[in-house]
Amino acid sequence: MGGLFSLDGTMAIVTGGASGIGAAAARTLAEAGATVAVLDLDRERAAAVADTLPGAPSGSPAASMALACDVADEASVEAAVAQVAERAVPGVLVNCAGIAIRDAATDHPLASWNKVVDVNLTGSFLISRAVARRMIAAGTGGSIVQTASIMGLSGGGVYPNVSYQTTKGALVNMTRALAVEWAGAGIRVNAVAPTYVRTPFIKALLDQPEVMEKIFAMTPLKRLAEPEEVAAAILFLASPAAGMVTGHTLPVDGGFLAQ
Ligand code: NAD
Repeated sequence: MGGLFSLDGTMAIVTGGASGIGAAAARTLAEAGATVAVLDLDRERAAAVADTLPGAPSGSPAASMALACDVADEASVEAAVAQVAERAVPGVLVNCAGIAIRDAATDHPLASWNKVVDVNLTGSFLISRAVARRMIAAGTGGSIVQTASIMGLSGGGVYPNVSYQTTKGALVNMTRALAVEWAGAGIRVNAVAPTYVRTPFIKALLDQPEVMEKIFAMTPLKRLAEPEEVAAAILFLASPAAGMVTGHTLPVDGGFLAQ
């Protein structure tokens, strides 16, 4: 892929890259020419993704790589970003690491609330900060894409999910705040807001035909999103094609939010 959508020569970090949207984003960015650092809690599954990406052969200096990283742990994030930066200053960061703990708000334990906030919100902040520091120090600028959700732009959905909805809503405004703060350094910050996407994240829902019917009923395009469709929007926001776009959240939602 060339031209406006090319990431040739770019080092890209993808968190949560071992599965689902992150794995699809890693592949799409690599197909656009990026060297991808696939970060995940699970290094083995991250390596299984990194080893199959197109680009330089595994083991060569320009090859994609896999690193263990817990985005909710500051030391783990700092160590992983330092390891990537030894190869090259990252030009792109895509934050896909995320979790949901689905309870009624009145039954939601504090420990569950804190866990979701730590991974979805604090985790996205910690790695955005670590990567932006490198981009600013090197004077290179770059592009950061957060993964929000339609649940960050609406209180609806098929089940109660207050901590998830809260963190995704906060990510939308973190995207605006960081975009404004870092624009002078040439760093663009945007987000995607997917509807339900066919990944292990919603496995419990995929197994319930009546829940699937509800999702189709509330989605004008009447289907789930595929991870590759979210990855395509991520590539747009990460690439020079979106050179004048910053601070925005792009729904990939089959029309959900247009209603
Ligand atoms: P997934 O479960 O397939 O993948 C998530 C990955 O994140 C996993 O590989 C997991 O190991 C990793 N991860 C979890 N906690 C982590 C941590 N602390 N540090 C590092 N890695 C961690 O899920 P997915 O569907 O690909 O979701 C990716 C993102 O998209 C999430 O932020 C999710 O909230 C968001 N999203 C998903 C959907 C959906 O329906 N699948 C919809 C909207 C938004």
